[in-house]
Amino acid sequence: MDRSANGLPVPQSVPPRTAEVVVIGGGVIGASTAFQLAKRGVRDIVLLERRRLGAGATGKSGALVRAHYANVHESRLTLESLRIFRNWDEEVGAGSCGFEATGFVQVVSPADEAKLRANVAAQQAIGIETSVVSADEVREIEPLMRTDDLTYAAFEPNSGYADPNGTLYGFAAAAAARGAAICTETEATAILVAGDRVVGVETSAGRIATGTVVLAGGAWADRLLLLLGLDFGLTPERVQVVIFRWPAEIDQRRRHRVVIDATRSSWFRPEGFNSTLIGVELGAGRTEPDWFQETPDAGQIDVARTALAARFPDFAGATMRGGWAGMIMVSPDSHPIIDQIPGIPGLFVMTGDSGISFKTSPAIGICLAEWITDGAPKLVDLTPFRSTRFAEGRPWEDEHSYKKDSLLTISR
Ligand SMILES: Cc1cc2nc3c(=O)[nH]c(=O)nc-3n(C[C@H](O)[C@H](O)[C@H](O)COP(=O)(O)OP(=O)(O)OC[C@H]3O[C@@H](n4cnc5c(N)ncnc54)[C@H](O)[C@@H]3O)c2cc1C
Repeated sequence: MDRSANGLPVPQSVPPRTAEVVVIGGGVIGASTAFQLAKRGVRDIVLLERRRLGAGATGKSGALVRAHYANVHESRLTLESLRIFRNWDEEVGAGSCGFEATGFVQVVSPADEAKLRANVAAQQAIGIETSVVSADEVREIEPLMRTDDLTYAAFEPNSGYADPNGTLYGFAAAAAARGAAICTETEATAILVAGDRVVGVETSAGRIATGTVVLAGGAWADRLLLLLGLDFGLTPERVQVVIFRWPAEIDQRRRHRVVIDATRSSWFRPEGFNSTLIGVELGAGRTEPDWFQETPDAGQIDVARTALAARFPDFAGATMRGGWAGMIMVSPDSHPIIDQIPGIPGLFVMTGDSGISFKTSPAIGICLAEWITDGAPKLVDLTPFRSTRFAEGRPWEDEHSYKKDSLLTISR
């Protein structure tokens, strides 16, 4: 494998004719899985990316890393992932994930206090460092925060955010260093099934014979699934973020905490050393992932500034410095699908990430690699993520969700 000056793999354009495992998708899930497979000794791995590494959601991600969820399954995936983000050099040994442990505050409305307490207790029970803190304590934890409309929040001192591209490039470089072929500008056009199992992948650069495929195609994944008659009700949706320069009034020497504000459907974190990146969820509806507007809507800028100033009042007149939109794939219950497709042995999917799977990508890669090499995921029980839950009529519902309508996913 050739390497660029900074040690990252130089992608190859002609895929091999055979592979032990073909991973479709050069986002963080595909790269994490390819790395974990290579680490477990799988030698002939081909990672296919139709455009370039990070062309999908990963390249646009907010990359918040927090363990607070309204269910322990996603919290557990984050907990295991945090171990990798925090020990990147030992665990991955290539590139940098850029993890910043700023600490994380989950803001909820006073009406949701009981839910907050139940969620924090469940997280503490699985070993997550988190606690319920009063509004007074929140003010000490994050002096920028307005708290007069709060009673309690949750605080995770070890959470924060990472560099999504750095994480992806690191996983890809580590996979390539162990022999994985990274093929960009190469589209998988069909997953080939004979009898009842996977036999290969048709690509824009020829056919690859393989018995195992991992589909991690982000907002484009359903195209290949529908060809196989697999319809999980997935919806590609557009998500916007806006960046504001820190006003002169605030302390420019410290990075503020990462915040999810469930009362405003917003999530925000520092961007670099002088700006804040914020996303506010309005519910975008189905959007074509090849033809979407990559800049934020004009109206989104005021929506984002208003939501940010509602929690950090000093940002009321903050200067907008940029923003973008990216595509996520939303499942019918806003939870990811991670499964080996029943009836098609050898076909593994991670899809319907619903805008929350950057932070869990290290652990998801381990689980998928374990499933392929050892016959089952061991790190985390993936049963709740099974693809059949919709057909069973048992979509995933979080018992203590703060969600007020069906639109929220990243900030739920
Ligand atoms: C604006 C925004 C903010 C976000 N904020 C957060 C956050 O704060 N925290 C968090 O955890 N998550 C967040 N997410 C979600 C997170 O980024 C995604 O869950 C994660 O990046 C999904 O990774 P992926 O590898 O599954 O998909 P992607 O990164 O979308 O990668 C899929 C790749 O597959 C390629 N592909 C598709 N089909 C084919 C094919 N047939 N052949 C070859 N290649 C193909 C695509 O080109 C793409 O590069 C956010 C997402 C967005 C857009």
